[in-house]
Amino acid sequence: MRLLFMGPPGAGKGTQAMRLSAELGVPQISTGDIFRHNVAEQTELGQAAQRFMDAGEYVPDEVTNEMVRARLAEEDTRQGFLLDGYPRTVDQVQTLDEILAELDQELDAVVVLSVDSEELIARLLKRAETSGRNDDNEDVIRHRQEVFKAQTAPLLQTYEQRGIVVEVDGLGDVDEVAERIVGALAAADKS
Ligand code: ADP
Repeated sequence: MRLLFMGPPGAGKGTQAMRLSAELGVPQISTGDIFRHNVAEQTELGQAAQRFMDAGEYVPDEVTNEMVRARLAEEDTRQGFLLDGYPRTVDQVQTLDEILAELDQELDAVVVLSVDSEELIARLLKRAETSGRNDDNEDVIRHRQEVFKAQTAPLLQTYEQRGIVVEVDGLGDVDEVAERIVGALAAADKS
């Protein structure tokens, strides 16, 4: 099973991707988590990413693509993976296509979590109370929504044309949304 999770910041990608990856027994690859880990460890990658993350901007494609390429070369991805938060730009979509072609792999589905934008901001402001994330403050939260709309939302068309998009309503409690995702993948004959 090779899946992408897409959706605006606050849609619940990370939470749902974690659950589904455990259920499917494939690794969850979250570019945001990998970056945050590297920032915490003050690695070279973390130093390259931090100022972009703090500002709610995307980390440059070269940096992100190289990191994902290395991750997908690891053995534990052979039976599948769940990519959470990648690709987010046209260039990343192309790079992922190249990486998968080299590995002779194909995507099964792109799970899109849709949530109304005021609800997203409310969720992120709530998360800000406990997350400790530098990018969880109102200005940066709003900016991240804009960046998503401008750069990432249009990419869905590409995957829609390939007929692999599975759209799921992200409103509701975590269990409810998780059930919807499993049901939608089954209905689309992807699991
Ligand atoms: P969110 O979905 O709430 O923005 P993430 O944890 O997925 O949270 O991402 C946090 C930050 O990490 C992003 O704002 C961006 O700076 C960086 N990042 C994560 N994934 C990518 C990506 N695919 N391309 C560029 N930057 C990324």
